[in-house]
Amino acid sequence: MLKPKKIALALPQISEQDTVSVNEALKANWVTSGGPFVAEFETKLKETLNTSRSIIALNSGTAALHLALTLTGVKRDDLVLCQTMSYVASANPIQYLGARPVFIDSEQDTFNLSPNYLKTAIEDCLEKGKLPAALVVVHSYGLPCKIEEIAKIASHYKIPLIEDAAEALGSRYKNKSCALFGDYGILSFNGNKIITTGGGGALICKSAEDAQRARHLASQSKIGQAGFEHDAVGFNYTMPGLNAALGMSQLKALNSHIEAKRNIHFFYKEVIAQIPGVELLEVPDDSYYSNYWLSCIRLNSQLLKNKSSEGLRKFLEQHEIESRFLWKPLHLQGIYENQEFYGGDVAENLWKSGLCLPSGSGLTAFDLNRIKDALLDYFFN
Ligand SMILES: *Cc1c(COP(=O)(O)O)cnc(C)c1O
Repeated sequence: MLKPKKIALALPQISEQDTVSVNEALKANWVTSGGPFVAEFETKLKETLNTSRSIIALNSGTAALHLALTLTGVKRDDLVLCQTMSYVASANPIQYLGARPVFIDSEQDTFNLSPNYLKTAIEDCLEKGKLPAALVVVHSYGLPCKIEEIAKIASHYKIPLIEDAAEALGSRYKNKSCALFGDYGILSFNGNKIITTGGGGALICKSAEDAQRARHLASQSKIGQAGFEHDAVGFNYTMPGLNAALGMSQLKALNSHIEAKRNIHFFYKEVIAQIPGVELLEVPDDSYYSNYWLSCIRLNSQLLKNKSSEGLRKFLEQHEIESRFLWKPLHLQGIYENQEFYGGDVAENLWKSGLCLPSGSGLTAFDLNRIKDALLDYFFN
């Protein structure tokens, strides 16, 4: 029998328009930093998010987080609160600065940071005589976290809030874009994010002064135009023009990518509804709007004997369908096992029982039906 074509978890979707846009940058010799494409990409991002806040295009989301933490003034041995259920890049920049991450568990409604454990953690840090220097909160898989409640807590204790919206471009809470609730918001345009610039990211600053400093730090803190003088130890974090050109055309496709991702989510919702003991991760109510970057399911081990996320992953793999576990909580990673953690086993259970299903915006109806058949086959046979 002919082997079916492999269905990937999420591939970047590159269009004819993308080729035209990148070619334009090449022909104009705007391949490197600066130039009209970067400025234009920043303007278009502002329009997309519907904000007057300054946005700085960078060469990765990780760089954006590093800059945000630098701007808050985080320094060696400071404590930085961080959501445990996330990709490792949410925490690594804390370590770059010699600060110590304090990990916080998730809650059951949005599967993101628990406001209750957050309060416990802050109170405990205060009792030990140290106010945390910053908070990194994440909208995992595009699902907005309880951002309003979290922002209130951060503001009550005067802790700078950094919103990691790397996966959440286009997601909203009460109709306001994710990445605009904190003092800093970050986006990523890596290969498998909802739009891609090849590699890239952006930093959104509430204060114009911070934005100016971020821009300066991102370009090696160079002063003047002609010489090589620098007034601080900066970084090489700016976005090249070539990437911005791709970003310009990708942004035009953002709405269609979101529509495709949401349709995939609602397709899975119908399939999963037929399978007892399996749940699709979704927004708790209408205040939340998710781009559903990746569709994730969770298996109830009490109801499903002899079935597991690992079993399903292998079964799908045999059918040439790629799936992936949810984030391994950061406090359980070897590199972070000695750091503080506040919470229970919410994120840990999600990791053990969850699976991300293929969610690329280029999936066809044929692909989706193949996945549906494989899912039903696994759970009912
Ligand atoms: C992708 C991602 C990042 C990092 O972005 P890069 O552009 O890959 O550096 C940070 N946080 C989260 C939650 C991400 O998914």
